[in-house]
Amino acid sequence: MGMQVSMVIDLNKCIGCQTCTAACKSLWTDEKGQEQMLWNNVETKPGRGYPKEWEEKGKKSGWKDDKLLFGGLHPDEDFGGEQPLNHDEVYFQGTEDRLVQKEPMTYGANWDEDTSSGDYPNNYHFYLPRLCNHCTKPACLEACPVRAIYKREEDGIVLVDQDKCQGTRLCNQACPYDKVYFNHIINKSQKCIFCFPRVEQGVAPACARQCPGRLRFVGYLEDQDGPIHKLVNEWKVALPLHPEFGTEPNVFYVPPVLPPAFDAAGRFSDEPRVPTEYLRYLFGSEVDQALVTIMQEMERKKEGKASELMDLLIARDWKSLFNIKDVKVAGEGVDHRPLLG
Ligand code: SF4
Ligand code: SF4
Repeated sequence: MGMQVSMVIDLNKCIGCQTCTAACKSLWTDEKGQEQMLWNNVETKPGRGYPKEWEEKGKKSGWKDDKLLFGGLHPDEDFGGEQPLNHDEVYFQGTEDRLVQKEPMTYGANWDEDTSSGDYPNNYHFYLPRLCNHCTKPACLEACPVRAIYKREEDGIVLVDQDKCQGTRLCNQACPYDKVYFNHIINKSQKCIFCFPRVEQGVAPACARQCPGRLRFVGYLEDQDGPIHKLVNEWKVALPLHPEFGTEPNVFYVPPVLPPAFDAAGRFSDEPRVPTEYLRYLFGSEVDQALVTIMQEMERKKEGKASELMDLLIARDWKSLFNIKDVKVAGEGVDHRPLLG
């Protein structure tokens, strides 16, 4: 068994700027047939997300009692469909003089952006960046009838071999995170590749490297000196999203700690602003202890005491976020370009 490359995303620092989304989109999915693809997206939570209601469908996919479930295809309207403009009329026919949508939008990425839940003054929201989790038990891989999906021995990155993919879309049905997309032009499934050509050069994935919030850690789970191992296995404050889906994700999240709720007199109370029940829904029951640990360490830091955890999460030096220098170059001499579609 080789190493497992991994990412920790600190939700306390995400400002929802979508720089990660744009970095990924412009690097990997600007071809025809990839319009709806956001290998990395950032959604406002609580919210329906992208594609629409993916969590509801996720419950019918992934692993349940060691059986693989196929939650159903996701029609294109779950992504919001096309949003055609009167481009031809304006630019080529000269019959109209300003760009407008031909049809009203009904959904799209960021449809719920910045929409709060709860009642004023205790309303709340936070941002959830999402990408393929490069799972240890990838449902997509198991579902593929032609073995086009594989998990690399050397770093655990999960890839769709574009030469082998037959477009059956069974991986789309099986991934509970809805992180396999379908390219209708070339009839193949495509997904996040964890920027493996960059990782092979010791460079962090574009979403992490471009993030102005310095909140994405990249490294190997097994690297005992690295921040990923410390945050996931030692401090236990970084948790997988929807662990009940059973795929054993390798992207982990530090849960958000917002200011506490106000009491009736307008003073801070002991009640959390984000209902713990909602965080349990996202990250499982281990979130309770993770929140306690984070708040205890925040207090230590406020009192001027040392806190390894807070120093890790603050990440004053951006290079401390990335620990991928020692990666072995995968498959030297192998031309990986067909993987990119
Ligand atoms: S998140 Fe989905 S697409 Fe990515 S490895 Fe896991 S099951 Fe496969
Ligand atoms: S670039 Fe960073 S701060 Fe901005 S949305 Fe993405 S993860 Fe959040």
